[in-house]
Amino acid sequence: MQKITVGILGATGSVGQRFVQLLSNHPWFELTAVAASERSAGKPYREACHWFLATDIPENVADMVVQAVEPNLDCQLVFSALPSDWAGPVEEAFAAADYGVLTNVKSHRYDEDVPLLTAEVNPDHLEILPHQQARRGWSKGFIVANSNCVAMPLVLTLAPLHVAFGVKAIIVQTMQALSGAGYNGVPSLAALDNVIPFIKGEEEKVGPESKKMLGNFADNKITPAEFALSAHCNRVSTLDGHLETVSIALEETAISVETILEHWQNWRPLPQQLNLPSAPEPPLVIRSEPNRPQTRLDRDAGGGMAVTIGRLRPCEVLDFKYVHLSHNTVRGAAGASVLNAELMMAQGLLDKLK
Ligand code: NAP
Repeated sequence: MQKITVGILGATGSVGQRFVQLLSNHPWFELTAVAASERSAGKPYREACHWFLATDIPENVADMVVQAVEPNLDCQLVFSALPSDWAGPVEEAFAAADYGVLTNVKSHRYDEDVPLLTAEVNPDHLEILPHQQARRGWSKGFIVANSNCVAMPLVLTLAPLHVAFGVKAIIVQTMQALSGAGYNGVPSLAALDNVIPFIKGEEEKVGPESKKMLGNFADNKITPAEFALSAHCNRVSTLDGHLETVSIALEETAISVETILEHWQNWRPLPQQLNLPSAPEPPLVIRSEPNRPQTRLDRDAGGGMAVTIGRLRPCEVLDFKYVHLSHNTVRGAAGASVLNAELMMAQGLLDKLK
């Protein structure tokens, strides 16, 4: 198979480093460009980057020269991990210049012609791309977004239930890791020995993004799912891994704990059916111990791509409650984008870029 050449925008950051780790030796993609701010441009990647992953900087990337974020990179597809106050027009410029753009940034998530894709949940939303390209006058380029790192794992747990029983209402509380704030995110004196019950702009994203991903696609339009969602987002002093506690009410009420567990365990969505390189098997790991999932023990399940669920039990206020955990920079960001690209490749949607 001919590999697609790829670049990373924001390659030196928290999400960018994950992209480097996941793409440096990928069977379908060849990493040929890394780009970041003016501070880094012109330097070898190993000098520009405060690398903080447990594996070494891949040899084939360490000496790559970091480039400016301009649509003249030597690649066909770019993965974007840029700051959101800056990324929107830049990503459009790349798409207009015939690059495929897969973005982690919020700038285009709510655009009506941009799919907010979680490969296991809403692969049919990719059918909007011809409409996007016609509307924006792009011949080969496109923008596909993935959601924020709270909504994505939440929606992975909801998808099999929503299809079978209909989601009616959700209350979710998060315990979010420090890497979710980026490399320069929360100062150590604010983070250590502390829980901060506020993450700017986060709670507002969870409802709309979850509803868009679980929405219906028809006639070139994505209609968001209708349910009530209330989110409380908290920053805690862990490095990686977002823990979320969820209470849920379903439209169909005569459902047992065992039935829900069966639906989670038997869920085998498209990426798993296609055996895509980054698709975790199973996508949802169910733990039976009363004290799991735990951040340190479970964040790397399925190579960081699986969502681990535990403690499913009846809820006195809504119908059921449970806990889930996922790796925020892998499943919640870079890994999800790479899986989205693999799905597009498997479906022939990247052929035009070749
Ligand atoms: P980060 O650690 O702060 O990294 C930001 C990256 O963007 C760095 O490579 C930085 O380059 C580059 N950059 C900053 N300003 C730039 C400019 N003016 N021009 C070009 N490049 C610039 O941030 P992050 O946590 O990786 O997040 C990146 C994006 O992903 C954000 O939009 C965030 O909301 C989203 N996201 C993050 C997570 C997560 O778990 N962290 C999850 C989902 C989505 P320099 O090193 O040269 O400054």
